[in-house]
Amino acid sequence: MSERSNPTDKKLKQAIDARMAIESARKHQVDILCDFAAKLSLSCKGLDIELDNRLAKFRSALNKGMSFEDLSPLVSETLILLKNQESIQQAQQRDLFNSVQNAGKQLQKTKGLPDDTRRALRNLLDQEINNVQSTHGYIPLLDQLILFYHEALLTKQDPQADNQRPVKQARAKKLLELANELILEEEATLQINSIKNNITESDTIDALLDVAINIIEVVVKNISKERKSAQSFLVSLNQTLEDLHNSIVSTSRHSKSMSIEFDSLNKSIELKIKNLNEQTQKATSISSLKELVDNELKSLSEDFLAKEKLERKDREMLSTSFSEINKRIVTLEDKLTTYKKRLNEQRFKSLLDGLTKLPNRAAFDERYNHEMHLFNVQPSDVTLAVIDVDHFKSINDRFGHTAGDITLQVISKALQKSVRKSDFIARYGGEEFVLLMPGVSLENATLPLDKVRKVIKNIPFKFREKQIEITISVGATQFKKGDTLLKAFDRADDALYEAKNSGRDRLCTSK
Ligand code: GH3
Ligand code: MG
Ligand code: MG
Repeated sequence: MSERSNPTDKKLKQAIDARMAIESARKHQVDILCDFAAKLSLSCKGLDIELDNRLAKFRSALNKGMSFEDLSPLVSETLILLKNQESIQQAQQRDLFNSVQNAGKQLQKTKGLPDDTRRALRNLLDQEINNVQSTHGYIPLLDQLILFYHEALLTKQDPQADNQRPVKQARAKKLLELANELILEEEATLQINSIKNNITESDTIDALLDVAINIIEVVVKNISKERKSAQSFLVSLNQTLEDLHNSIVSTSRHSKSMSIEFDSLNKSIELKIKNLNEQTQKATSISSLKELVDNELKSLSEDFLAKEKLERKDREMLSTSFSEINKRIVTLEDKLTTYKKRLNEQRFKSLLDGLTKLPNRAAFDERYNHEMHLFNVQPSDVTLAVIDVDHFKSINDRFGHTAGDITLQVISKALQKSVRKSDFIARYGGEEFVLLMPGVSLENATLPLDKVRKVIKNIPFKFREKQIEITISVGATQFKKGDTLLKAFDRADDALYEAKNSGRDRLCTSK
């Protein structure tokens, strides 16, 4: 008997091995999914709080080894959230589109618009802005640019306008400020910088309008690019999750029906083996035994074949469905990396000043808040200084805005270099800088601050072969009990005012 049952044992062993191979393939796929969900949830962090939470839940469910059936509602919920994200973006896009259209209509109604300008404007409204799909904070800036454009046009209708120096100066200054606020990707920043260099206070309003149109064009193109990157990421994310969802549903459905078939096959095999056992006991002759065993073994081996086929089908189905998902996941991860990079660039850049690359006012506000908070929890020495370049306007007036810009860049570099590592320096706006010195009392700050003043004074600026000395005035104070952000800043500002009024190029302090 033992020789005859050998092939049965072998078949059974094969069946067990095949089953284990399926189990381990499944485990491997779950591991891939876990890894993917982990990466996804970390990368999406900050896109949307609700989405963050949902992905964290999904991830922990996967890690806990939750069944595919139980995972399925989590995936659907995530899908709904992603769809919401898309519709929020679409709503933003519609708002922007409407506001641009309104501004455009208003502009087109303006009488006395030169033909060239009208044409440029029409092109802009027809072609570029209609395609704008914004995800970032450019909308208010774009609004402002268009408002600027509108105001400039109104000024233009005043026949005296081109002769009014203060009006032109104010317009040029406003346009420069707007251009400086733009945080765009590398290429667009270069474009804006070169456009900016064409702005001078002696420009005619017409020339300024041209510059404004150019800037709007660059911004619009940049927004379009940003949006496309975000859009394509979200679309792929959606598709991948949808695939994942479908495959999870169909795999679990398939597994259920498979397990019913398996069960019935197993039962029939068991029954046949039991029968075989019983019949062999009862067999009376060798020939009847042989016939019996032959028949039963034939039918048994048919069952085994059916079982093997079923298992092969199961394996194939699992592996095709998962290999499709794997492919999608790989593409998605690529897109995610690009998108994340752009998002990080955006976040990082939005805390840096475009011209000087120093931390900007937003970055300062964040740090200032933080230091004040720490101080209120546990008072320590913190010095705050405001720095303003003396007579900076005259640099612009005498040598032009480009020279002014370069001067600001040089001064910024020197400031950055002459403060300590633990100090925090930022461009507060225009030609004003702020310096936070944690752990330094006002008394101990006077020497280093005066050193900074001297460093700037000693920079050998040269414009049109002329040696120019540029100086700064500094007002400093120290955080004290009961301070608010405003109170401390006002004290430093008062000290700066005193420095200016008592002859500039000096440090004044206020306790
Ligand atoms: P004071 O000594 O009283 O500070 O005189 P000031 O001329 O420096 O002061 P005011 O605030 O009147 O002028 C600041 C000037 O800085 C006016 C503005 O045109 C110029 N400015 C501000 N931001 C920029 C910029 O980004 N680039 C250039 N080139 N000039 C700028
Ligand atoms: Mg100033
Ligand atoms: Mg100044």
